Amino acid sequence: SADIALYVAKASGRKDCRFYNEELGAEYHKSGQLRLDLKSALKNDQLRLCYQPIISLSGQKIIAFEALLRWEHPTLGQIAPDEFIPLMEQADLINPIGKWVILEACRQASKWPDDIRISVNISAIQLKEKGFSSQILQALAAYQLKPGRLELEITETVLIDNVQEARKTLKNLQNMGVRIALDDFGTGYSSLSYLRSFAFNNIKIDQSFIRDAGSSEGTGSIIAAVIGLGKALNFDTVAEGVENAEQLEFLKSQGCDQVQGFFLSKPVAPDEIYNVIAELSGDLAKVRAA
Ligand code: C2E
Ligand code: MG
Ligand code: MG
Ligand code: MG
Repeated sequence: SADIALYVAKASGRKDCRFYNEELGAEYHKSGQLRLDLKSALKNDQLRLCYQPIISLSGQKIIAFEALLRWEHPTLGQIAPDEFIPLMEQADLINPIGKWVILEACRQASKWPDDIRISVNISAIQLKEKGFSSQILQALAAYQLKPGRLELEITETVLIDNVQEARKTLKNLQNMGVRIALDDFGTGYSSLSYLRSFAFNNIKIDQSFIRDAGSSEGTGSIIAAVIGLGKALNFDTVAEGVENAEQLEFLKSQGCDQVQGFFLSKPVAPDEIYNVIAELSGDLAKVRAA
């Protein structure tokens, strides 16, 4: 119908399209209604986590799943995280919802084979909250997960705002065995200085680079250089947004450690995790052959 518009998550131009009523959506935004709805989303059971596998190229196996938050709005349908995460941050909801995300992700991961990690996105605001570390430790304890099973994905903004405090919190958690990843690498400011200021376990190269890897020689060289830095500075490099065999082949040839993207698997619901594990282990022929 006319008022159903194809909505493409705008910030990144990514392809996972969602349908929602654009007029209604705009009105909702203006009236602040969306923010109000978000306030009750958790207790109304509208939030879900889905999980996307991260594959080790050397081990040719799934080594982690990234937890990705989904909001099924009762009238608007699926809303993209790039839309509602900023709302959550503005409405002081990121801490309670973020806490639920951590607990739920750990609960799910406790049911998986114990060589598979869970990776959780953490916003800058969460990291600043007093007691963030103990929140993490409590979640691990509640589901008897070893700290090494958990990875926290942060972006460069975390380190821009509150460098000293944030770094201390992250360092404490890392000392206890929790892994720390730098997400969306290459999209922020002065990225290289962060590599110097913190010993990340993983660096996730933003999907905008992977998209251009084959077509732009310059981009390919940057990716190769980051992988090289990883070997020198002892972090693993993860390529985000791998969508085709050419990209995978390039990343393999450059010695990239880990890959994630629609070519390997889309994010899936928790009850599909075991299917993905089974399918991908057969399907990793795809990785070998590419
Ligand atoms: P991100 O952490 O960089 O997550 C990767 C995003 O890329 C996900 O989008 C994923 O669905 C998408 N993606 C994965 N493979 C491909 C591919 O091959 N092609 C394309 N085009 N896209 C791919 P999603 O789920 O829409 O999440 C967007 C962002 O929202 C995330 O980016 C993350 O920054 C944020 N986010 C999601 N869940 C949470 C959460 O629980 N807490 C916080 N603080 N942020 C979250
Ligand atoms: Mg992430
Ligand atoms: Mg990312
Ligand atoms: Mg992102």
